[in-house]
Amino acid sequence: MARVQLEHVTKQYGEETAVDDISLEIKDGEFVTFVGPSGCGKSTTMETVAGLTQPTEGRVYIGDDDVTTLAPKDRGVAMVFQNIALFPHMDVFDNISFGLRLRTYDDAEIERRVEQAADIVQLEGMLDRMPGEMSGGQQQRVGIARAIVRNPDVFLMDEPLANLDAKLRVHMRTELQRLHRELGATIIYVTHDQAEAMTMSNRIAVLNKGRLQQIAPPLTCYNEPTNLFVAGFIGSPSMNFVEGKLIEGGLETNNFTVDVDPSRIPDVAVGDDVTLGVRPEDVHLVRYADSLTSPTTTIDAKSDVLEPMGDEIFVYLLLSEAAAGSMEQDPATSPNQLLMSVTPDTDIEAGQDVDLVLDRSNIHLFNTETGDALVHGITDLQEREPGTAPAGADS
Ligand code: ADP
Repeated sequence: MARVQLEHVTKQYGEETAVDDISLEIKDGEFVTFVGPSGCGKSTTMETVAGLTQPTEGRVYIGDDDVTTLAPKDRGVAMVFQNIALFPHMDVFDNISFGLRLRTYDDAEIERRVEQAADIVQLEGMLDRMPGEMSGGQQQRVGIARAIVRNPDVFLMDEPLANLDAKLRVHMRTELQRLHRELGATIIYVTHDQAEAMTMSNRIAVLNKGRLQQIAPPLTCYNEPTNLFVAGFIGSPSMNFVEGKLIEGGLETNNFTVDVDPSRIPDVAVGDDVTLGVRPEDVHLVRYADSLTSPTTTIDAKSDVLEPMGDEIFVYLLLSEAAAGSMEQDPATSPNQLLMSVTPDTDIEAGQDVDLVLDRSNIHLFNTETGDALVHGITDLQEREPGTAPAGADS
């Protein structure tokens, strides 16, 4: 197994920059997922590691070797793609061992490797089956076994589960985690599905428009997103965003003001546009305010639509101004809307007035102009009365 390093990798197709100055290091044995919307450059970045694409600028290292110009077969990588393309006229054993035969391993070694790989992906007893006799998930496991037998330094997987149905995809996620644990393999995984990225990876690399936005453990991306893009992309349903402006002593939005001292927020000042972000699970009914460490003042809203999901209910809320003018607004795009998630035993009904609070410890602030995160949690950022000690400093 080996580490992988990208140094200022850029890939240009004519005028278009598919990958824009990406530098990152993947540690030996790490599972890193490239995630982002379609066209953001995930596959192209991985192709520069595979050797299927030469970067326009920058270097690629595997282990200590600069592999930037090496052919794919000389890089010690094995790939698994969305379309696994098994040979239909060969049985599972021959499909898995095909690459080894090209490399002239002896029969005993081939048999040993195929059996070990089949064991890892739980295909024992199926080695004489033809691909046409197997389910999509089993075929995908043949594709993974074909990569395992090559004993690569690095596994590269590009949307390998995309063609499977939802239930099988969830099952294969656990299988890939087990595979990672058993092999201690370095894995680079590409997906547009943030849930897949969150559940499997040691770290996720979030890309947008060819640029690396953040590379961090999944929960760090969730709790401390580096900018508005990551905050909106990671987490389902998405974080709520409410645009506002910093005034003396607060952040003023169309509908409510949050107490905060602008001088204690880095990089911004009174008059700057700041966007408040809050996740649906951090919006609460005012009656639960006592259970929060640091609730905001009350926000008036009206419940609009309820979406029961079984284990939770999503409540679409119109903030007070919007409630009055909602006839003219498309609720789906209204900036005056908040989404809240509540437990299924809620007594909230559609069309009802509701009083809300946000948990200050889970409010994120972003510079609206640059999109950069300013702070995560504003519990200690209220304006201080002259002569009072900061919150928590009570000795
Ligand atoms: P993703 O994997 O995130 O969906 P890609 O890496 O496939 O994105 O593509 C990034 C951008 O580069 C896209 O705009 C795509 O159209 C462009 N692109 C990718 N491959 C080629 C190619 N071979 N020729 C021209 N443009 C390409």
